[in-house]
Amino acid sequence: MTFIQIDQAIERIRNKQFLIVVDDEDRENEGDLVIATEAITPEAVHFMIKQAGGIMCAAMTKQRLAELDLPLLEAQNPDLDRCQFTITVDAADRFGVVTGESAHERAITLKALANPDTGASDFLRPGHVFPVQAQDGGVLRRTGHTEACVDLAHLAGFSPAGVLCPILRDDGQMARLPDLEKLSADWDIPIMSIADLVTYRLEHERFVHPVKTSTYASKFGDFELTVYRNDVNDSLYMAFSMGKLDDAPTLVRVHAGCLGSDLLFSRNCDCGNELQAGFQAIAEAGQGVLVYIVRPEDSGSGLLERFDISDNILPCTSQHSDPRDYGLGAQVLHDLGLNQIRLLTNRTAQRAALSGYGLEIVEKVSLPIPKRMD
Ligand SMILES: [Zn+2]
Repeated sequence: MTFIQIDQAIERIRNKQFLIVVDDEDRENEGDLVIATEAITPEAVHFMIKQAGGIMCAAMTKQRLAELDLPLLEAQNPDLDRCQFTITVDAADRFGVVTGESAHERAITLKALANPDTGASDFLRPGHVFPVQAQDGGVLRRTGHTEACVDLAHLAGFSPAGVLCPILRDDGQMARLPDLEKLSADWDIPIMSIADLVTYRLEHERFVHPVKTSTYASKFGDFELTVYRNDVNDSLYMAFSMGKLDDAPTLVRVHAGCLGSDLLFSRNCDCGNELQAGFQAIAEAGQGVLVYIVRPEDSGSGLLERFDISDNILPCTSQHSDPRDYGLGAQVLHDLGLNQIRLLTNRTAQRAALSGYGLEIVEKVSLPIPKRMD
């Protein structure tokens, strides 16, 4: 399966064309037909109803929904994975809307939702158009179609609003990749992956900000510690650096915190030993950076929440880490002035996200760790 590159996907949206957007297999694995709201026409609405067939929605930002006084439906499922529907709308009579149902009238309502000159009094409630609320931060906060739509419209230079319609098969079941590929070929509409959009945004926008720097005396030697916060999630990035940092190949370890192993001597995994070996290797080289990711689920109320979903209270959290963590780690390394990295890792799989953002992994250096005692 080849997905369209994101810069080409943005170009299509800018040219007022459709895209088929798919999410991950471990999420809904759903394909939606999407277009920028400013590009919507009666013909486009009709095409979406006929060729996609699911419930057509208007993806909008929280801010715009607040301006239009369109609250989320009550009894809203607080689960972030669910679609965040608001009360439904039709554009008011003066826009020429009579019943609100036809493709022509739905296009009028959709356009009015994205028009910055309209306000709350320009819409009747309930109606035939279903606005859905995107999370602030877009696909970096939630990897849903709603967020992808808003991000794509914004990146294409339109107001951040998109129209989306889940694609159904002829037998009424949700379409899967083979069905989407057929639709793509039949109508010459490329398929875009939300995961690629996440990577693209991590590579092209800056989300990390240094908040504090100090010297840090460790048992391995003295490091310079810079703490970064980010705009995407509540994780903190602690960058322990030693020696002169420049664009020469530099020893780097990016370590996703693993409470059980790093601090509490768990035998679940090798994280704790790798952390120690990472500090040691950088101290011996006299130059390098260790980025330690402190995640909210490893402390306080975040840890408490985890008790509910797993019998294993202290599992290895590093093995299931969020790929965004590494993209943000790359931004931290870039901020510290690095270009080429010699990555300290015992994993064979490439950390794709780490090699973005102007960073190149020029070498993998394995960590010498003692044999496990189990
Ligand atoms: Zn671990």
